[in-house]
Amino acid sequence: MTAPPAPNGPGFTALRADIEPLLRDFTLGEHDGRLLLQGRRMLVQSARSLGQLREELIHLLGTELARGVLKRYGYQAGFQDGHALCQCHPGLPVEQQMHLGTVLHQKKGHARIETEPEGTHVDLARGVLDIRSRWHDSVEAEQHLLLHGPSAEPVCWTLGGYAAGHLSYLLRREVVAVETTCRAQGHPYCRFRVGFREEMEKHFPGCADDYRRLDLGHLFHELEQTVEAQRRTIRELRERLDAAPPAANAQAFAALIGRSPALARAVDIARAVAGVSSTVLITGESGTGKELLARGIHAASPRAAGPWIALNCATLTESLQTTELFGHAKGAFTGASGARAGLFEAASGGTLFLDEVGELSASAQAALLRVLQEGVVVRLGEHRERRVDVRIVAATHRDLDEHVARGQFRADLYYRLNVVSIRMPALRERGNDVLLLAQTLLAHFGARFGRNLQGFAPEVLRLFLAHPWPGNVRELANVLERAVLLARGPHVELDDLPERFAADAASAAAAPPSAGAGAAQTERERIAVALARSGGRREAAAALLGISRATLWRRMKRLGLG
Ligand SMILES: [Zn+2]
Repeated sequence: MTAPPAPNGPGFTALRADIEPLLRDFTLGEHDGRLLLQGRRMLVQSARSLGQLREELIHLLGTELARGVLKRYGYQAGFQDGHALCQCHPGLPVEQQMHLGTVLHQKKGHARIETEPEGTHVDLARGVLDIRSRWHDSVEAEQHLLLHGPSAEPVCWTLGGYAAGHLSYLLRREVVAVETTCRAQGHPYCRFRVGFREEMEKHFPGCADDYRRLDLGHLFHELEQTVEAQRRTIRELRERLDAAPPAANAQAFAALIGRSPALARAVDIARAVAGVSSTVLITGESGTGKELLARGIHAASPRAAGPWIALNCATLTESLQTTELFGHAKGAFTGASGARAGLFEAASGGTLFLDEVGELSASAQAALLRVLQEGVVVRLGEHRERRVDVRIVAATHRDLDEHVARGQFRADLYYRLNVVSIRMPALRERGNDVLLLAQTLLAHFGARFGRNLQGFAPEVLRLFLAHPWPGNVRELANVLERAVLLARGPHVELDDLPERFAADAASAAAAPPSAGAGAAQTERERIAVALARSGGRREAAAALLGISRATLWRRMKRLGLG
């Protein structure tokens, strides 16, 4: 056979004659308030109530799940109506039954359906079912546009489900309806293609999936298995961590070279607070390695796998501070051509290091306080609060107490930042660490510039120990980078140092020698120099000093070295 007659075509009048008795069969129960069709209870509902139900389902379940629920709901409606029609017209050929279904679908107010003769092939005897149709004024597309606006995907889910259910009942085979374009997408009408499942799945893979009921039991079982697998992974990782905690921790602070008690104190506190998420304030002169310590805290913390982001607040203007840290909406200021997340959002799950925090503007201070108090950021030009999970490590070389006293830094913010404070010692407070650092930096720059330098002339090491190092480790690094480039011999000589060291050397030579503590200092220096020159090997150092290893060891112990 060919396509069923179009509802507005020549066969339509005859079918109307068929459907009218059916519609007359709607009866309203006088005593019980039931609306019946062929003894089956029916329901007339407002389009808006369907729209509202869809709205709630989408909101509650998300589009994917809501689509499945509504398709199955439509399927059930079509299936039941198919049954009612068959009872109403028991002798009617199935093709006529199919068309009656289309007419009833329209009469129920879903849409006006027009079959496209082009491409439609129906030959049930040969198992061919391929119907193409246009659905005008779909109630579902209308409600979707009303409540959600235009959609990227077709939305006539209950309507498609109705057609599939109706035909599946009549033909006793699984029929699927696929909406190829929809009015909700901006087309003048919706287009459907209807056919047997096996054939349809060839053209639209997965098109029948929505008709399968969501098996919650199965879903929960899968979820349970996933959770159990994750638990196993966590257990294994924890066991591995327990097996090797010192290595992980030691590495975190490895970049901080030195054995002085002053440095050890700072690292101990850092190690202790790394495990918790409290805010840390690192103080200390410029160049002491505050960022290295902050990095160590991040690396030794449970956030080590998360992002590490460092910002020097002093390098940004006041307006840039706010947009960099907190982000901005599109068009928030001239030139903001797109929306942008700030560093707080970027650092979520990790650590944000705010160097020179004392340089933050008043507005950035206020916003930072809000993050610390409420854990939310608001992008410039937006009202929406975004939750962030960021650990803040701040640093300053200034005396923030004084800033607070002078009203340049918010007291409430200062107390929030200063939960744990760690003071990085100046290089001059770190005793022989300067020699150890010098040795390490020599090897570092030697490797970088391809220079194989063996060590330092003794007077250089003496000067290193005596120099006040106002620029701390950074100054030492600069001095050594220059020296490695300049050195001509196998050792760094006085000539390879900046001129200010030559002046230091002259005044040291002019200073009168002192007794007691001075003598001890000299011996300490000599031993330190020998150790440094021999790369820490005691036997070589003893040989340099012309004493036995045992004597060297005894003297080191007395002088508190090593
Ligand atoms: Zn549609």
